[in-house]
Amino acid sequence: MEIFRKRQEKLCERLAEEGLDAFLVLSLESSDYANLFYLTGFSGSFGVFLVDREPLFLTDPRYSERVRTELPHLALVEVRGKWLAGLAAELGARGHRKVAFNSRTTTVKLLEELREHVSGVEFVPVDGWVEEMRAAKDEWEIEKIRAAMRLTEEGLSWALERLTPGVTEREMALDLEMWYRKNGAEDVAFELIVAFGEHSAMPHYRPNPGTRELRKGDVALFDVGVRIAGYCSDLTRTFFYGEPTAEFRRVYELVREANERAIQGTRAGVSGVDADRLAREAIDKGGYREEFGHGLGHGVGIQVHEAPRLSYTSEDTLQTGMVVTIEPGIYLPGKFGIRIEDLAVVRPGGLEVLSSFPKDSPHLSP
Ligand code: ZN
Ligand code: ZN
Repeated sequence: MEIFRKRQEKLCERLAEEGLDAFLVLSLESSDYANLFYLTGFSGSFGVFLVDREPLFLTDPRYSERVRTELPHLALVEVRGKWLAGLAAELGARGHRKVAFNSRTTTVKLLEELREHVSGVEFVPVDGWVEEMRAAKDEWEIEKIRAAMRLTEEGLSWALERLTPGVTEREMALDLEMWYRKNGAEDVAFELIVAFGEHSAMPHYRPNPGTRELRKGDVALFDVGVRIAGYCSDLTRTFFYGEPTAEFRRVYELVREANERAIQGTRAGVSGVDADRLAREAIDKGGYREEFGHGLGHGVGIQVHEAPRLSYTSEDTLQTGMVVTIEPGIYLPGKFGIRIEDLAVVRPGGLEVLSSFPKDSPHLSP
């Protein structure tokens, strides 16, 4: 496939600039599946991909047939026994002396094994090269994320119609996951969050055991996403089951204002810190400075959390094609939490918002 070939070539150019001979993607039982998928399109869990001018894929007999079918254009070595020996032979035959590897996903143990079994090669750690390439998406990738978001929103509508007093968080989360899988998702993008009442005040709540039942007068928070063709979506909406209290209305409006301000003010060239500040200032003014304890958002792509980061500690600047979440929240422990999360593409003139689920009517009738 042309698109993967281009990505491999781009990586080769950087290798040449840095005086390195090759780049080694080591995905052992999914340890670097995202970069392997980005560079080859292979979705299996075991693959060693050697990137140079003549890229080579090493895998074991569990996957070799799949590689031949999915990646017929790639040179393949099926390794029986120790893959390290197969890799050493290839590196030796190619005469490589300096080989880069991803320092983020390679364990100390694996590096020790490489050094022990492959002599005459210097293994050079590099930080996040492929992750950087992945941050700005092309239109082909954005279409997949758009499709994932469409299904995510359809599922959320389906779930809301099924909210009844007595239903548990766990039942809702599992039923919704089943709906997503039956309706075209490869998988959910993360463990779906369904949080009722006081549980919504925990930003990364897990509905496990999730035995809390929905009652009239509860806040109901859904943070959901799916994976389609390798790409993720991420969406949060918060509702009130029954007639909303004055406190809920006030806090909801504040979070919505923070979300809208950040969406309006973010475009290519804005830093992650400044995007975060747009939302944070609105929440500070409303008196909830301490109750917005996480960053504004994150990149979404092959992984549900990837570069860039939008937060007060971010070092990133937004570029055209990045796909990011805008998700301010206010959390009142023991009471409730509200988060509104949208997903958007960074464009030169502003954000193109991919999520369209309404956020102006959080009131659900029991
Ligand atoms: Zn989310
Ligand atoms: Zn998110």
